[in-house]
Amino acid sequence: MRKGWVYFLTALAFLLSLVGVSKATKFITIGTGSVTGVYYPTGGAICRLMNREKKITGVRCTVESTGGSVYNVNAIKKGELDFGIAQSDVVYQAFTGTGRFKGKPIKSLRVVMSIHPELMTLVVRKDSGIKKFLDIKGKTINIGNPGSGQEATSRAIFSYCKGVISLKDIVPEYLKASECPNALRDKKIDGYFYMVGHPTANIKDAANTVSIDLISLAGVPCIEKLVKDKPYYAWGVIPAGMYRGVNHPTKTFGVKATVVTRADMDPNVVYHMVKVILDNFDKFKRMHPAYRHLTKKDLLKGFDKSMLHPGAIKAFKEEGLL
Ligand code: GLU
Repeated sequence: MRKGWVYFLTALAFLLSLVGVSKATKFITIGTGSVTGVYYPTGGAICRLMNREKKITGVRCTVESTGGSVYNVNAIKKGELDFGIAQSDVVYQAFTGTGRFKGKPIKSLRVVMSIHPELMTLVVRKDSGIKKFLDIKGKTINIGNPGSGQEATSRAIFSYCKGVISLKDIVPEYLKASECPNALRDKKIDGYFYMVGHPTANIKDAANTVSIDLISLAGVPCIEKLVKDKPYYAWGVIPAGMYRGVNHPTKTFGVKATVVTRADMDPNVVYHMVKVILDNFDKFKRMHPAYRHLTKKDLLKGFDKSMLHPGAIKAFKEEGLL
């Protein structure tokens, strides 16, 4: 009888502890991009590091594949996502109510940290006849699915370049990035724009499926002006040999991939997210080749510090970076 009570009480204690755990567990979701890009594995890397400590922190992190930057900031605004990854140009425009967010600023948007650099990449089929940017006239070019960062940046290019080339001069397509390698192979498109970190599985897939080339966006006066005028764009180079058959370096412009959230997000959760990356920085860097040149200081680049969430400020201050 006594033994029975001991079993009963032990079982009860166990059940109560389960209730306790489930009550304390906080679920967070990071919105990313298409699965073969770099955002999706980046969300995965952040969650994996955070979830190793979920017994202590009570935070369980999951990743969602989404339409990309613009979708993510809008979903964060609506409370449909807790965190998201977005291009620094999109974040800047959303916060200031400029560009495609003209008149609709998302004042509640906050930055957690930035991660890897992204470059605006024009991938073409080698036999498409496209050798330079202006050769895309008359060609079928994927500018990006609605909600993606590449669609936003492509439109910025075409609006800056109007007079030289506009969307009307190409046959625009709006496929998801993950659909582009096969569409390129099947000649449904001649090329596609993708704002992405390098290397990415997406372009590796394309290069392994069909003969591809990457087209430089440097030296085109209207694009040079765009990069000069906007604080969030900078020039960079995709090294030679990164993708099969592309043996020349490709100069183009880009942004920083940035983790964002809402101002009212629990500062302890934001703190924890930044802290696990800082505390496991070398481990994190090994999680994707697009992070190979990353330094801790880079996590604070590409955005105005006034946008940092208080939880992130605390973690960066403790690390002596702020
Ligand atoms: N930059 C792209 C976007 O904002 C996503 C790139 C990626 O998935 O790595 O939609």
